[in-house]
Order: sequence, then C-alpha cells, then structure tokens
Amino acid sequence: MAKKIDSKTAGSPRFNPAAKLDEVMTGTTVFNIPFPKDLNALKGMSPIVIKHPYFVEYVHSYGQDSPFFAGLANKKILGTRCGKCNYTYATPRMHCTKCGKETKWVELPQEGRVHTFTTCYYGSEEFLKDTPFHLVLVEFDGVDTLLLARLIGVEGPEDIKIGMKVRAKFRRNSQLKPTDVYFVPVA
Ligand SMILES: [Zn+2]
Repeated sequence: MAKKIDSKTAGSPRFNPAAKLDEVMTGTTVFNIPFPKDLNALKGMSPIVIKHPYFVEYVHSYGQDSPFFAGLANKKILGTRCGKCNYTYATPRMHCTKCGKETKWVELPQEGRVHTFTTCYYGSEEFLKDTPFHLVLVEFDGVDTLLLARLIGVEGPEDIKIGMKVRAKFRRNSQLKPTDVYFVPVA
C-alpha cells in the first residue's frame, strides 16, 4: 500500500513521487509483441486481440412469473387465463392484454401441435454448444397464445411438420429455467 499523504502534518510532503500500485499476480500474458523503431509505423498497426475469461454471477428474481417455474419443477406447464374474457395465455401474463383484467393461473395440456418451427444453427453463449437445435411454437387446445420450446427426437427439420402432435417432457432435475420443459413428437 502506498503511504498515505497527510497534508495536515507540518513539514510532511504533499506528494510522493515514489508512489507505486501493489503488484498483482494476474494479467494478460503476452510474448514478443512487435514494436517498430519508427513510431509513425504504429498508425498502421493491427489491433491487438486478447482472450479473457468473463463471468458474471447475479441474483435474479422471477417475480410474479415464479409460479411458472414452480410448475416446471413439478412437471406442469402453467399458463394464465383472464377472469373476465377467458383469453388464455400459454406464456403467462398477470393481466389480460385484451381487456386489462387480472388473470389466474391454470394448468395447460401436456400435448399440443406444432404451430411453426425453426432450426437454429447459431445461438447465444448458453445455447451455442447445442446447435443445431429446433425451436417450436406449440399450440394447445383451449389456449389462445403459443409456447416457445425446444423440440427433440427428430433427425432434421425435414422431419418436423406444421400441425404435428408433440408431447411435453421435463428435465428430471429442474434448473428453474424455461428449458426445463421441451417437446418430443407423439409416436
Ligand atoms: Zn381479458
């Protein structure tokens, strides 16, 4: 630690030219970075690209969506239904977007149909290792909106058909993530 400068003490220096940050044992290790004798050549230098690990751990509240995840952990898909106009949401909303009234939780069927699908050949960091994978929007009887989920158990996109029946499956150990539920074709 650099010595604290106490300007109130008579005769003590107000600055310390020998000040030095503590040395650390971490950093980017590089070898043999070329450097020109003529500094004008630096204008044409290629950018230095380094690899650096990045990790963030954060506390995240599911708030009023919490029952949806409690449902997944108990192998149930929960949606919500408007108490006034009966509009039913596969992706839960606490208030009806049609009439504004508060909704109530309802359990959705575990069988539905493929409304549409896409095959992802690229993804965000979390899903990149799983590519290619298929995403489906599932429609359920008596439900007005669709549920986005993974479809497994098919070889390729040519095996997925609009309207094909699919059934929900759940991870045995819930991760409390939307990916706890996924779908497989109904045999
Ligand atoms: Zn409503």
